[in-house]
Amino acid sequence: MKKVVVVTGGSRGIGRATSTLLAQKGYSVIINFRSQRAPAEQLQQQLTKLGFEAQIYQADVSDEVEVKQLFDFAEQQYGEVTALVNNAGRLFTQSRLVDTSLERFTQTVTTNLTSTFLCCREFVLRRNGAAGAIVNVSSGAAKSGSPNEYVDYACSKGAIDTLTVGLAKEVAHQNLRVNAVRPGLIYTEMHADGGEPARVDRLASIIPMQRGGKAEEVAHSIAWLLSEEASFTTGSFIDVCGGL
Ligand code: NAP
Repeated sequence: MKKVVVVTGGSRGIGRATSTLLAQKGYSVIINFRSQRAPAEQLQQQLTKLGFEAQIYQADVSDEVEVKQLFDFAEQQYGEVTALVNNAGRLFTQSRLVDTSLERFTQTVTTNLTSTFLCCREFVLRRNGAAGAIVNVSSGAAKSGSPNEYVDYACSKGAIDTLTVGLAKEVAHQNLRVNAVRPGLIYTEMHADGGEPARVDRLASIIPMQRGGKAEEVAHSIAWLLSEEASFTTGSFIDVCGGL
């Protein structure tokens, strides 16, 4: 069967590495992005030049209508979508919970959790009882709580873990597997959004492996969870945290 995957936030960072690896593994890839078109176009050109199937689609995946449009586009391009990576996510400037505004808390949860809910629901509906695979990108923050930095972000990721477990049990009978990865400190541009571009280097010494991770190292875990090699794995988590 043709393998078609939607990667949300697939244009930069972990999503970019995942889109690239899945294209190399024979998936037709829909690379979703929210606002920055240039990196998405650059990735698409790079992949198509190598003979891989890849299309880009701009959508805010926390918007119900835009999620439907994203899946419509994917089906028009490549036929039924067989796999989903819920990777889109964001965080805000480091702060304590007491200094977090309601607006920021809501935006964090909407971007990270609501998007995962909407895309999971759309994917499961469109599978219509057939098999498939979802990987949700959670975070080590789901377990640490990210005190003094982003408890709001950690909450959204903890809820993604719960969604992963619950949905996995709901759809297991149709061989639709739902798993998650929990990356630790990974070198991407996301840390600049938190106000500290060099955060990974600052914290490297507390990581048992004594280094930050690469986006590609997360992508490999995602690709395995999507693959037939993980055929009896659902409701499970891979921590890609260097031992943290
Ligand atoms: P990143 O480099 O900042 O990339 C974020 C990607 O998500 C971009 O492609 C961005 O699109 C997209 N995006 C953001 N909001 C979106 C929305 N509402 N709709 C559609 N796309 C959206 O981030 P990253 O570090 O690779 O993180 C990827 C995932 O890994 C996130 O879920 C993050 O929480 C998780 N994670 C990262 C780390 C880490 O250390 N980096 C650790 C644990 C977990 P635009 O370019 O258009 O904005």
